[in-house]
Amino acid sequence: MLKVHALGGYNEVGRNMTCIEIDREAIILDMGLYMDRFIAIQEKNGEMNREILQAEDAIPNDEPIKNIRSKIKGILITHAHLDHMGAIRWMASKYKCPVITTPFTAEVIKRNSGNSVKLITVNVNSSFKISNNIEAEFINVTHSVPQSTIINLKTKYGSIVYALDYKNDNHPTLGRKTNIKKLRKIDDVILLIADSTNADEERKTFSEHIAREMLKDIMVGMETDRHGLFLTTFSSHIARLRSMLQISETIGRKTVFLGRSLSEYISSAEKIGIVNFSEKAEIIGNTTKANKKLKEMNEKREDYIFIVTGGLGEKNAVLTRIVNDELNLKIFPKDFIVFSCEVIPTPTIQANRKILEHKLHRKKARLFKDIHVSGHASREDLRDLIKILSPQNILPAHGDLAKTASLSLLGWEMGYELGKDIHIMQNGQSLDIA
Ligand SMILES: [Zn+2]
Repeated sequence: MLKVHALGGYNEVGRNMTCIEIDREAIILDMGLYMDRFIAIQEKNGEMNREILQAEDAIPNDEPIKNIRSKIKGILITHAHLDHMGAIRWMASKYKCPVITTPFTAEVIKRNSGNSVKLITVNVNSSFKISNNIEAEFINVTHSVPQSTIINLKTKYGSIVYALDYKNDNHPTLGRKTNIKKLRKIDDVILLIADSTNADEERKTFSEHIAREMLKDIMVGMETDRHGLFLTTFSSHIARLRSMLQISETIGRKTVFLGRSLSEYISSAEKIGIVNFSEKAEIIGNTTKANKKLKEMNEKREDYIFIVTGGLGEKNAVLTRIVNDELNLKIFPKDFIVFSCEVIPTPTIQANRKILEHKLHRKKARLFKDIHVSGHASREDLRDLIKILSPQNILPAHGDLAKTASLSLLGWEMGYELGKDIHIMQNGQSLDIA
């Protein structure tokens, strides 16, 4: 018996969680937060516990698998983004099994979820035997956080390939390319669970190299004079942060990273030897404590590049606090504010970002928006993936109905038939595959 339980990420972009039941055993793939709802609760400053998060749809609803909890042998995590691992903190204790993932992701989970989580690390491009019947292979892919993987679950029914959050970057700026060779070797894919986040984008997702060139174009050669340079991106995007650091070296400014989540992600990456930012940059996690230092930096602002948290206008993030005059570091007219991120299209996040932009305009700053390339495969990359794997069945995930339908349409173009070998599921539904 091979059965899929869609638990989260099938009605929305986020809170990814899927359970695969294989005879007498079962595996959970990802356990993520729905960021929009999570941020909304955070901003109310109210109490936060599993029940509240569940009621507000900020974490997946695992009710449908409550009777098979004892069958679950492992929680497998693809990468270190909160919409894939952020719910571990709230939900993993229900399951008496280890969380299995790559070293960088494990390090981030440890910081996010505490020491009570039993973690097993597996290097990228390596396999782990979960039981006599199930083996998991963590295949290296390019995305927007280090050590991202596609997981191949090898079972007696064939391979189940869980391919969320990846792109085929031919010129990554950090880490190795997507391991296409390994993907080509899998010749018995019974089910492909695929990322539909960008399935409606009719193109290829461009390389991280392009984002670096865009940043360079802004930071080198524009009329920056003595103006402040503020950059922001996703704190987990170590490759992007590295590009920013390298460019600031070429223009002779010293890099300062400001904000707790930046400091956390950088520490995780340094701990397992992916980067060494501390050697060249200053990293300040607690800005409140560093207010005296910020005052000195503010007076010599032309010597620095400030990489800050808060590109999405989050309430307690550094950029928001600067623009609200809560810190000694200030924004002056003509300062550069470079948003090297996209605005996640959900209501709370969009509203927060609008407020932030409005306040920056009041300060007469120069804004540079969407200096970014996505980490998600677009329609034409997905076509390649389907061609490489030729799965018997496809299940679109990580998107609402419009997005999963987009991927289904692509499947139809490639000879699949909706309801027969390409399946649209909603959270809470289960499906027999074999
Ligand atoms: Zn991701």
